Amino acid sequence: MADAEIIAVGSELLTPDRIDTNSLWLTAQLNELGVEVRRKVVVGDDRELLAAAVCQSLSEVSIVILSGGLGPTEDDITREAVSQALGRPLVFRQDLLDALTGRFERLQRKMADNNRRQTFVIEGAEPLPNGRGTAAGQWFESNGKVVMLLPGPPHELQAMFTGECMPRLRRKLPPQVIRTRFYRVAGMGESDLDQLISPVYKPYANPTTTILAGAGDIQIHLRAHAETEPEANALLDAVGPPIEKLLGDRIYSRNGASLEEVVGEQLRARRATLSVAESCSGGLLGGRITSVRGSSDYFAGGFLVYTDRMKTELLGVTPELLAEHTAVSEECARAMAEGARLRTGSTFAVSVTGEAGPESQTGAPVGTVIIGYAAPGVEPQAKRYLLFGDRNGVRARAAQWALDELRRKLL
Ligand code: AMP
Ligand code: MG
Repeated sequence: MADAEIIAVGSELLTPDRIDTNSLWLTAQLNELGVEVRRKVVVGDDRELLAAAVCQSLSEVSIVILSGGLGPTEDDITREAVSQALGRPLVFRQDLLDALTGRFERLQRKMADNNRRQTFVIEGAEPLPNGRGTAAGQWFESNGKVVMLLPGPPHELQAMFTGECMPRLRRKLPPQVIRTRFYRVAGMGESDLDQLISPVYKPYANPTTTILAGAGDIQIHLRAHAETEPEANALLDAVGPPIEKLLGDRIYSRNGASLEEVVGEQLRARRATLSVAESCSGGLLGGRITSVRGSSDYFAGGFLVYTDRMKTELLGVTPELLAEHTAVSEECARAMAEGARLRTGSTFAVSVTGEAGPESQTGAPVGTVIIGYAAPGVEPQAKRYLLFGDRNGVRARAAQWALDELRRKLL
């Protein structure tokens, strides 16, 4: 299997102001060709460091792609560094000089002396024309390895890679495809999830399985490599369906859709509306719901009721109930949900109340979150959770758990 490393060159990429985006774009293109990126490096404009990085990459993978540092100025050292790493001199190319002079003539500008630096290529390398700038790229092949030097400006790099490198790589590489499957899971901790599904995926190196965890939100990525699409799908079928079976309805999305999008679709399909009543989540729930375009089709609105008085005045939670049970109680969560539903006229309502910490206001342990639910024709319900995390972690999980509760109710 062909694999690649990407070296982004430029001291500006090591400052807080700039980020290497070329490697993201290149990775997507390489994956299309079935090439996996093994490592990425960002190196400043330092010839020795860059030469060392190139040597290391050459010892690890068969395709090394450099971006940046092909400009005309002294700090553009990619040509020199790669020449040093490969142990091959730079040679002057009259055709590149002609192209460059022609370009400057067409633009009616005088070519600066240092542009001559851009007319040198590594001995044995093929220059890659750049229709959008002065820096020619380079393609070098030896002992089954490929090294590409590409310009830094994204539009130049992209045009050159698409026009020059993709066709060359396609000719060189054996037919390969990468196919992926992607699950999003809510309402489960990362270690519980891994314990459950690792017996399924551990025996397989292909597809590879990656688990990414956020606050109560887990993504499972499967990536299969094969020569053809049916083979890749067969590899994925060995791992995907057993995982789906184990996780059941904890999987909320198979296409990357977010939890708020999934819930929105459920509401839309039922032609139902929703309102929310939030205490400890402080608007995060309503914020997520309304982050989805078109949410006005199903979202009526919400109440941000932080104090007891607001719970009473806006939602009709009685002072007696609050005195007897406190705001962090199933009773209060139910009354909040029912109040929101009645006062907005929505089909469903969800409420969130709890202790985000660091101190407890009601005596309930920090991390206690109660989610209420109100729907037509049934008694309001509430469920108590003990969520972990610091204050913002608990708040984020509270919104996540509330959305997931609602999703399960609407299944
Ligand atoms: P250079 O080819 O090194 O002269 O880079 C020219 C310009 O391209 C830089 O000033 C950046 O704006 C942009 N650039 C260089 N490398 C990257 C990269 N890896 N990702 C995104 N932009 C880049
Ligand atoms: Mg640069």
